[in-house]
Amino acid sequence: MSEDSKFFLKDSDVPKQWYNLGADLKEPMSPPLNPGTKQPIGPDDLAPLFPMELIMQEVTQERYIDIPGPVLEAYSRWRSTPLVRARALEKALDTPARIYYKYEGASPSGSHKPNTALAQAFYNKEAGVKKIATETGAGQWGTALSYAGAVFGIEIKVFMVRVSYDQKPYRRAIIESYGGSVVASPSNETNSGRAILEKDPNSSGSLGIAISEAAEVAATNDDTKYALGSVLNHVLMHQSIIGQEALLQMEMANDYPDIVIGCTGGGSNFSGLCNPFLGKKFRGEQDVHAIAVEPSSCPSLTKGKYSYDFGDTLKSAPLLKMHTLGSDFMPSPTHVGGLRYHGMSPMLSHLVHNGHMEPRAYGQKECLEAGIQFARTEGIMPAPEATHAIKGAVDEALKCKAEGKSKAILFNLCGHGHFDMQAYMDYFSGNLAEDKFDTEAFEESMASIPAVN
Ligand SMILES: *Cc1c(COP(=O)(O)O)cnc(C)c1O
Repeated sequence: MSEDSKFFLKDSDVPKQWYNLGADLKEPMSPPLNPGTKQPIGPDDLAPLFPMELIMQEVTQERYIDIPGPVLEAYSRWRSTPLVRARALEKALDTPARIYYKYEGASPSGSHKPNTALAQAFYNKEAGVKKIATETGAGQWGTALSYAGAVFGIEIKVFMVRVSYDQKPYRRAIIESYGGSVVASPSNETNSGRAILEKDPNSSGSLGIAISEAAEVAATNDDTKYALGSVLNHVLMHQSIIGQEALLQMEMANDYPDIVIGCTGGGSNFSGLCNPFLGKKFRGEQDVHAIAVEPSSCPSLTKGKYSYDFGDTLKSAPLLKMHTLGSDFMPSPTHVGGLRYHGMSPMLSHLVHNGHMEPRAYGQKECLEAGIQFARTEGIMPAPEATHAIKGAVDEALKCKAEGKSKAILFNLCGHGHFDMQAYMDYFSGNLAEDKFDTEAFEESMASIPAVN
């Protein structure tokens, strides 16, 4: 075991390839289906939304994909991100466990999102695209894509979920500083937005609605494409730079994680860290236990159904086989904007369904408490989403203490919380809303899941 607490890679040692877990999966994944015909979709079905290179990455069976030079160059502004041994937290917990975190908040926009934003902006630029429309929940994705648009010279239009738009004015200012434009969703600018507003003028919005709006803008404008910040295979693959680095950094630490933990909204930051380790497991090289943590207010992995469902609220997107709460599900307006999605990445869902990953749900209060303990020991103010991973790691470390076992625990600290402090303010003023999970709305929404064989 290394005596050091921080592990960085030299620029020249930062991995130059993304890793695709698809190449090492034992069980085949179910393909996306056309929502009308219920037949598997082909590349042409996605062409109005994405450049062809990204569509091919969505279905590739290659294990490694070369990262293009301009993307590597953009990464080099902050990668590698630090791998840190959380010795102060270990001490506070009085645990024999060795806790490590990978700090993706060290990126320009403060989360893991630029890893894929830069890649997607690059491939769109190569394809001659002028403008990208997208959605954002917590604001991190809109921020990262706006930065990527600035780097590669593409106009960015962000539909921001209403509740975040109102809660996070500083996010809007960052998006605009990077050159993106942002509007609250549901908006009056699209048919899908207007339809929602007609039914509920005070709608707090959802990722599903914002996705519908952005995809509509892309589908109806020739020079405009759409970009998704999570869920899809190519996004997870771009995020694998996190785990590719962590493999090398754990080697520098002369250690290997028994447990890998992350929070899951659409599944991209956790898959990014976890998939290279799972690949080693599937290839019979080294075992690992993966734990995916979600909020109890939006528990797609722990309460949802593993079924084909729409990724958007308009029900026009391809059907994805995933853990879903139903595309009509409106999660209560909690502070974990990035985790308020009714569905989940098909690849991560596939792993949970086949028993390769343990899903777990926690309430936002207990997570914020773990986040505050982390801030008081390690010094970093975590994003509310990231506190779910911290809570998972703390629980595992306390389990080690109870059992007198020393395990290595690695979690993803996917972002800092500097622009998401309202969650902590509400916590300290005692105004944190209870986690609500509306069982009636949930059952109704589950009934909206289409029957597909
Ligand atoms: C977007 C985001 C998430 C949720 O998305 P994943 O695809 O599950 O990673 C979590 N944390 C932060 C900080 C985010 O920006």
